[in-house]
Amino acid sequence: MQTDERYKSLKSGKLKAITKIQSEIRRSSGDFLRREGFIEISPVIISQITDPLFHLVDKREIEYQGKRFKLTQSMIFHKQIALLVHEKIFAFSPNIRLEPIEFLDTKRHLIEFTQLDLEVKEAKRRDVISLGEELLMDVISSVKNSCKEELSVLDRKLKLPSRPFEQIPYQKAYEKYGPDFENILSYLHKEPFWIVDFPKEMREFYDREDPARPGVLLDMDLVYPEGYGEALSGGEREHEHKRVSSRIKSTGLSPENFQPYMEFLEKGLPPSAGFGIGIERLTRWICGLSGIEETTLFPKLPGGEGI
Ligand code: AMP
Ligand code: MG
Repeated sequence: MQTDERYKSLKSGKLKAITKIQSEIRRSSGDFLRREGFIEISPVIISQITDPLFHLVDKREIEYQGKRFKLTQSMIFHKQIALLVHEKIFAFSPNIRLEPIEFLDTKRHLIEFTQLDLEVKEAKRRDVISLGEELLMDVISSVKNSCKEELSVLDRKLKLPSRPFEQIPYQKAYEKYGPDFENILSYLHKEPFWIVDFPKEMREFYDREDPARPGVLLDMDLVYPEGYGEALSGGEREHEHKRVSSRIKSTGLSPENFQPYMEFLEKGLPPSAGFGIGIERLTRWICGLSGIEETTLFPKLPGGEGI
């Protein structure tokens, strides 16, 4: 985008309304979690370990004093380790993901974004599904109450969804709509819904395999309606050294790449469940925007455009 054009859009009332709403999203979600007993921890920006991610993202490292640091793609491992200190934790975690340029067309990918990332010790998937629904309801009510003027600038009418949200098993969705089911279902739905039970080979090694149904994960995605697509991903976690090690190997990676996480697992990390919800995608849906680049003052898009 040209500087002239950007200068104009930064001074427009639209961006002012959107960023005010995003500020309310951050305030209300943080306050909601604190009321639920969560402790906010600082985000990790660089580390020896980060989420390997299932899809192909260009990986970069920085070298310092002979050590190599990865830019955080998600705080999954640090969240599990943080549960040694507190039982419920969250962070507004900046992620760098150098996404493929084709993702420009999805309208929901940035290469720099923020996840509200949380984890709960001893929790089951059903607990974090309820928590996710309550969090979303609280954020929508707060924005409706505190940002009436901004919503009217954007001509957006917000409706509270009805709970519990529908849960659709992956297999059922895939059989009916094929590989693009999440998008298709998103367009068909008027309210947010869950996709549950992804197959093991479709996700990262840290999502817990259901002991009663080998090959099926105890995980979930929340999907926004009206074509806005994926909102969050999460689930129960693998936490036993032996299991994690064999899951890593089955993805073709090596456990050595995940030291010191593997050493923490050896000493013992608790079972847990959690999720990460993208703040910019949540802003896009709440504000009813056509592209994710409209949700933030300094968007960086796949392909590298942005300041
Ligand atoms: P993941 O664990 O990969 O599902 O990421 C967690 C959440 O972060 C997703 O459900 C999205 O809300 C958000 N997210 C992931 N990748 C991006 C991206 N490239 N740009 C913006 N938001 C993203
Ligand atoms: Mg996901």
